[in-house]
Amino acid sequence: MEPMKGRERSNGLVMALGLVLLGAVGADVVRRGLLHHPAPPARVPAADTVASAGGASAPAGSVASAARERVRARIAEAADRTYITGALLETDSAIRRWPDERFARALQVCVIRQRVNGFRDDFVANVNYALGRWNGVLPIALSTGADSASADVLITWTAQLDSGKTGRTDLTWDPRGNIHHAFVVLATHDASGRLLDGPRMSALALHELGHVLGLGHSQEREDALYPIATALELTDRDRRTARLLYDLPPGPIR
Ligand SMILES: [Zn+2]
Repeated sequence: MEPMKGRERSNGLVMALGLVLLGAVGADVVRRGLLHHPAPPARVPAADTVASAGGASAPAGSVASAARERVRARIAEAADRTYITGALLETDSAIRRWPDERFARALQVCVIRQRVNGFRDDFVANVNYALGRWNGVLPIALSTGADSASADVLITWTAQLDSGKTGRTDLTWDPRGNIHHAFVVLATHDASGRLLDGPRMSALALHELGHVLGLGHSQEREDALYPIATALELTDRDRRTARLLYDLPPGPIR
């Protein structure tokens, strides 16, 4: 039902796939958005299969297999204290995050001021508030002020999403699991037509920025990544999950 998106890189190595993660501030809960482009039903997309072969030679394959086993063990060990498994469910068991090389170069965020119905300038401050909550948690930083052409993360607005949700994050990544771009749409009204107030917009932005960083949903109501976004602060579990994500190597774990 949600639009599928995908972008192709021209170098031939990179076939970006799209993932739509839906943030709800409203009635519709725990609907995991998992959409691939193109969309072979129920199986890992071909591009990911190629990546998971790890170069296909037998020695490389053994090393990759052992490395994946270690990653799975770390995820299992942290299962009670994080919701990292939520992201894996949404990504066909692959670690997807921004690459290590971005640790030294902050993600450039462009927040578009759009005169959509219900938009207020102070919504931008709500987004900046949410950015501030995430900054410092990870070795990767989010920096505002980029123009739309050069931004890694583009945040736009709409009066209402037809999904019944109030936010949507659309990621592109390469077969190695490295996120390349994030596109966020924030709705000024919820599904019932009510205008979001500042705190709800802050909670929504905090949630969607978690998806921008590669996080999936939490099952715990107090977490920022719970599908109904109400948290105005990150929980320790939010931070632990994000840090674990960035401590694991991107790519398939199976
Ligand atoms: Zn969400």
